[in-house]
Amino acid sequence: MKPTNEPTFRQSVDMMFNRAVAKMDLPPGLEEKIRVCNATYTVRFGVRLRGQIHTFTGYRSVHSEHMEPVKGGIRYALEVNQDEVEALAALMTYKCALVEAPFGGSKGGLRIDPRKYDEHELEQITRRFAYELAKRDLIHPSQNVPAPDMGTGEREMAWIADQYARMNTTDINARACVTGKPLNAGGISGRVEATGRGVQYALREFFRDARDVEKANLSGKLDGKRVIIQGLGNVGYHAAKFLSEEDGCQIIGIIERDGALFNEAGLNVEDVREWIVKHGGVSGFPDAAHHAEGNAVLEEACDILIPAALEGVINLSNAARIKAPLIIEAANGPITAGADDILRQKGVVIIPDMYANAGGVTVSYFEWVKNLSHIRFGRMQRRQEEARHQLVIDELERLDRYLGDAWSMTPEFKTKYLRGADELELVRSGLDDTMRIAYQSMRDVWHEREDVEDLRTAAYLVSIGKVAASYRAKGL
Ligand code: GLU
Repeated sequence: MKPTNEPTFRQSVDMMFNRAVAKMDLPPGLEEKIRVCNATYTVRFGVRLRGQIHTFTGYRSVHSEHMEPVKGGIRYALEVNQDEVEALAALMTYKCALVEAPFGGSKGGLRIDPRKYDEHELEQITRRFAYELAKRDLIHPSQNVPAPDMGTGEREMAWIADQYARMNTTDINARACVTGKPLNAGGISGRVEATGRGVQYALREFFRDARDVEKANLSGKLDGKRVIIQGLGNVGYHAAKFLSEEDGCQIIGIIERDGALFNEAGLNVEDVREWIVKHGGVSGFPDAAHHAEGNAVLEEACDILIPAALEGVINLSNAARIKAPLIIEAANGPITAGADDILRQKGVVIIPDMYANAGGVTVSYFEWVKNLSHIRFGRMQRRQEEARHQLVIDELERLDRYLGDAWSMTPEFKTKYLRGADELELVRSGLDDTMRIAYQSMRDVWHEREDVEDLRTAAYLVSIGKVAASYRAKGL
């Protein structure tokens, strides 16, 4: 468990920010303006359930409005509190700046255990929360655009979108008031997998540069790397699935609420996921050792550690015992500021949260653009692209006939080349491009500046620089 002598989550984010900003030359006062959270709205509302009124507490925090709308998920968890939403809102500011999603940072939370309510009750609660936020423009296509986070998903986003539309019947852009919606309610292909997919693209980019791999005391490619993952929720599941199925990684450890599974020979992610859905946890899963004290597995030897669940899981109490040479923060804030110091001194390379989990907001950006343009990506170009590719194929077929046995076109090439990109392919391509470019911007700082030892500081330098530039452009 997290020791009590550690700073809060928000203080931890501020400390990391301060470390980076000390290496910058910002005009006096601007660093404080960027660091502080602009406003946090707390709401308490009642919903009549099971014959009595239940009072819920919710938050929506706006960290920075240097760009609008502001963006960030809504979390449903019992641990939600003001300090946490403010920390998460700050991370959204830096995250959006780093991946050039044109948003300020925001975050919301509702203090609730969603597993204690049935679907109809959750809908009533969500609609009421959305009503409270929308009436203050804290949900609004051009002001504040929420998205899923822990404990929420497509279903909740669909309720929020519908609630907003009911309250704003003439707003033609109503659907852009929230992202992460199901496809049939204005969502975009590839949003559900986006954060996990982003983690995969981030690791691929990391392994493209041998110097970075060497800094982590690793060698070779992503293929064959031994991975331990904490949390098989939406982010962890997709990251583990793609890394094992497409990049040849071995998932040797999976940590969940009720303990951890460990198998040096590799776990089948789909099988584990199915087991969790059926049995509510990992306990009893065959073909793996089960550790009742799940977090102990964070300390096992592996090549890549992926915390994809809660904040603060790597802290002063366990940081010194972490053996992984490379950690990628798929969750927000899984490493406390104190643990970050310890790991840095040990030479552990950390791919920081504001970059590593930015895949979600990146695809949210695409969804928002789709909603505002009222057209699916690829709808205009796809068949035209196919027609142009057909011309090339026709020519190659002519050549094929001419050359006889000497050469022939492979059938796979023909089918692959002919197909115009659909929305999912375009989304993945846009996400891949975003993750590569953002990583490269951090990598440049990391390699070029002698006073920057780690990727987190590099990430802050890039993103604070961008936020500062837009404040300057506003005349501040
Ligand atoms: N909740 C996600 C995050 O922490 C997604 C935010 C969004 O898509 O706006 O990045």
